Amino acid sequence: MLKKILVIEDEEKIAKIVKHHLQKEQFKVITAKDGVAGLKLAKQENPDLIILDLMLPELSGLDVCREIRQESDVPIIMLTAKAEEIDKLLGLELGADDYITKPFSLAELTARIRAVLRRTDKQNLLQQNQTSVQTRGDLTIDFNGRQVYKEGKVLNLTPTEYNLLATLFKNPGRVYSRLQLLDAALGEAFQGYERSIDTHISNLRRKIETDPANPKYILTVYGVGYKFNDL
Ligand code: CA
Repeated sequence: MLKKILVIEDEEKIAKIVKHHLQKEQFKVITAKDGVAGLKLAKQENPDLIILDLMLPELSGLDVCREIRQESDVPIIMLTAKAEEIDKLLGLELGADDYITKPFSLAELTARIRAVLRRTDKQNLLQQNQTSVQTRGDLTIDFNGRQVYKEGKVLNLTPTEYNLLATLFKNPGRVYSRLQLLDAALGEAFQGYERSIDTHISNLRRKIETDPANPKYILTVYGVGYKFNDL
């Protein structure tokens, strides 16, 4: 499906050139000439990305950006006429994803758009993975409900055991150190004894493994830590 881009820009010539170019690049493009109209379209049209000029009549680009951010995480690329304005924009931390100064080349604009979209696609995918139900072997995790099932039966895990398992389960094959697992399972603020993770792992194995002495899910990586078997 074509990605929809909203261009909010009062200079008609620029808006027209950008629209034409992005359409050629296989984007669906809608435009608005001022901040108020832009805000309205941002809400109505649910675009995949917004290109937002800083200097706009009615409502400034800053205000539009701030307003959009109150309700949506849609990626925003700001257009500014002056390089100095970028410092100001960054200082305000208003939640734009990228900035581009005028005059800009269309190739540069397209590259920035694609980079931002790639980044947000990845984040969306990650979020989807975290909220869905996933199965590996005879283990299933419902990440929303924080429930773990083995062969369809609910396992009774402590919060720490659940966090440990979820972390490992999400990235099978990836090796985690004990310290990384402590952070993931107990929070970054936790300053603990690294080896305490071994106790949690052995408890977890008793619950999830058919034969805890010969684990097939959580594998020990000697001298490093643990990993979930890439089944
Ligand atoms: Ca302008």
